[in-house]
Order: sequence, then C-alpha cells, then structure tokens
Amino acid sequence: MTLSGRSFDPTRPPVSTTGPVVDYSLARRSTLEALRGGRLATTDVCDAHPELMRAGKNIGEEVPAPCPVCSHETLRWVRYVYGDDLKHNSGRVVYPTDWLHELMANYDQFTCYIVEVCTDCAWNHLMRSYVTGRKFAGRPPLRERKQQG
Ligand SMILES: [Zn+2]
Repeated sequence: MTLSGRSFDPTRPPVSTTGPVVDYSLARRSTLEALRGGRLATTDVCDAHPELMRAGKNIGEEVPAPCPVCSHETLRWVRYVYGDDLKHNSGRVVYPTDWLHELMANYDQFTCYIVEVCTDCAWNHLMRSYVTGRKFAGRPPLRERKQQG
C-alpha cells in the first residue's frame, strides 16, 4: 500500500498527502523492524516496480549508505513529481535534478516524492514527499525543515 510508503508504483499517482512535507522515515523503520522480526518477508519489501528499478539504475542519485536489506552499496534515490497542474509531466521522474527548478518556476503546485530503491535486491520505500511549486516560491527549502532522529 502506498499509504505506508512501501511498494511505490510510479505508474499510479500516490495517495495525496495532507501536509506540505511528509517524512516516511518512521514507516520505513517499522517496515525494517517487521522484516527483522519475521512479520514481513523479503519478498514483501523487495518488490520494486520495474520502472522504478530502471530509473534507479539509470538516473538514480547515489545514496551514501548500504541497503538496509542486502547491505550492498546499491541504494539510489529517485524523485517523481505528480499533480494536476503538471498535466503530461505528472508522474515523471525528475531528471536532471535542475528540471525540478524549472517545474517550480512554471507550475503553481505539485507534489514531489523521493523514493529509495535498491538496484540489487529491489528494496524500495518512500522517503519523503513535499508539496512545492510557484505558490511556494520564496519559502525556505522544505527538505531541511524537519530533521528528527
Ligand atoms: Zn538491497
């Protein structure tokens, strides 16, 4: 389910989020705890969508940390944007990274999702989502605002 941040499906718009920034690190931690406790199987969490895997391999941003499941250094971040304002750009991968600035200058409001994916074992989890766009111009970068734990 998208609500928990697991099994991100890039072909379907995720459930719209309520706040400007949603941090999924707690959900991620509880998913990993469930995996270690045997309440979830590896196949439950290592099920990255083929498109997400491809995006991770080809244009994903390298994450300086080992995969929490297979321990390989194959973690990548992939950013997706969704929103009615974006029209045909909705659901696209943000690449190159600068393209996001272009979107922010041209569209009033859309949501950016950052997804962690392991290109080895296919572990994937939503990391963070935030609402941005022209309406939000001039505000401090949202991504640094909420740092906990
Ligand atoms: Zn892995």
